[in-house]
Amino acid sequence: MQTPAQAIVPGVLEVITGPMFSGKSEELIRRLKRARIARQRVACYKPDIDLRYHRTAIASHSQQTHDAQTVRSVEDLRAVLFPILADVEVVGIDEVQFLSAEVIPLVAELIMLGKRIILGGLDMTFEAEPFGPVPQLMAMADKVTKLSAVCMVCGQPAIHTQRLGQSQELVVVGATGLYEARCRTHFTPHVDESGSEQLELVARADV
Ligand SMILES: [Zn+2]
Repeated sequence: MQTPAQAIVPGVLEVITGPMFSGKSEELIRRLKRARIARQRVACYKPDIDLRYHRTAIASHSQQTHDAQTVRSVEDLRAVLFPILADVEVVGIDEVQFLSAEVIPLVAELIMLGKRIILGGLDMTFEAEPFGPVPQLMAMADKVTKLSAVCMVCGQPAIHTQRLGQSQELVVVGATGLYEARCRTHFTPHVDESGSEQLELVARADV
């Protein structure tokens, strides 16, 4: 039987999701800043695929940034996080849709170790399919914040990310002008006729 001093109180999982341009990164940055103000120790990560603005920061479309370490994979994340885990109370991960399903048991483990985990990521692809591990992480979460953007056709709340154009190039993360937020009425699923996986992205530094 554990004494109260030995028991670890489980942490919490918060997921911030929605389409592009819905303010997910801003909301993640806001929560991490508040945690820092509360003198909690924060570690923040993002997959090494989003070269949108800075290699080592979360960037929102409104130019707010927060220091974030890039990781190439879930194994990489585990390798950099666990050595410092005893000194960390809050773990933030942005663009979590680009991580493999191995992030799911890692997050479950972090919760049981008493950490507060805050994830940001797209819930749906440009084909309106569930995006990577995000739907399952939403199901596991203590709190899900689903943000909407503004439909660029009619101004109503938008839950979809519309890919524009017929380019056969692989999806470019965060490329201005390639994507718009759209409501259900004005969204047309983007079907990639080349059959390439949306998860197999090539991030370009020149966008
Ligand atoms: Zn619309």
